[in-house]
Amino acid sequence: MGARSGRGARGALVGLLIAALVSTACAGGGLVEPEGERPAQPDRAASPEADTTRADGTTSVAEFEQDVADAQAVAERYWAAQFKASGQRFEPIRRVIPYQREGEVSCGGQPLPRNNAVYCSRGDFIAYDVNWSVAAFRQVGDAFVFYLLGHEYAHGIQVRLGINYSFTIQQELQADCMAGAYLGDSVRSGALTLAEGDLEEFREGVAAVGDDPDQPWFAEGSHGTPEQRTDSFFRGYERSLAACDLG
Ligand SMILES: [Zn+2]
Repeated sequence: MGARSGRGARGALVGLLIAALVSTACAGGGLVEPEGERPAQPDRAASPEADTTRADGTTSVAEFEQDVADAQAVAERYWAAQFKASGQRFEPIRRVIPYQREGEVSCGGQPLPRNNAVYCSRGDFIAYDVNWSVAAFRQVGDAFVFYLLGHEYAHGIQVRLGINYSFTIQQELQADCMAGAYLGDSVRSGALTLAEGDLEEFREGVAAVGDDPDQPWFAEGSHGTPEQRTDSFFRGYERSLAACDLG
């Protein structure tokens, strides 16, 4: 899916791979100390062309990076329009940074580990382990990239709106709702085109990053059960931001 309509790779989810996101994703705060970061992908216009075929279930890193750039561009346009509609000035998230090694990028003096994707509030950037993300992309499909970027982008929007819940799970489920809204609204506006299977990829991908059943909902770092996360995502997807309690 995405700016380019694509046929998503479908495959069994690798539990361990995805579970890593749950425990470590969305760390935030602190000063930025990026080292060896690569230049952000240039924004590119969304265009409904070039089906992505991946009959063998694999995809190229270049294709993945294009999807990340497309997801970022669509998210920026979406949130810029939302802010403008409410008379607020919008500052895009400063950078989206791929990394490969532990400690290559830091957030608040805390080195980011491998197998992770985060929004870092102090530095106002999204960073992701490119190898881990490409593996997830190949397992779940291209729709997962748009969800992941949309979720992290939503954390940046929460900061801009001054939203800071007491419990991690509230912040995370709202980000899922906002990711759903950005995607659903972008599909309705024609900025994104869904391919067959993309909705199911969202459902599988969002459920896959749900917490384990024994994770207390109030624990620091809790994101929500698979059911809670998919409910929040699709509430936003179907009903837009009005469903996301943005106040
Ligand atoms: Zn999050």
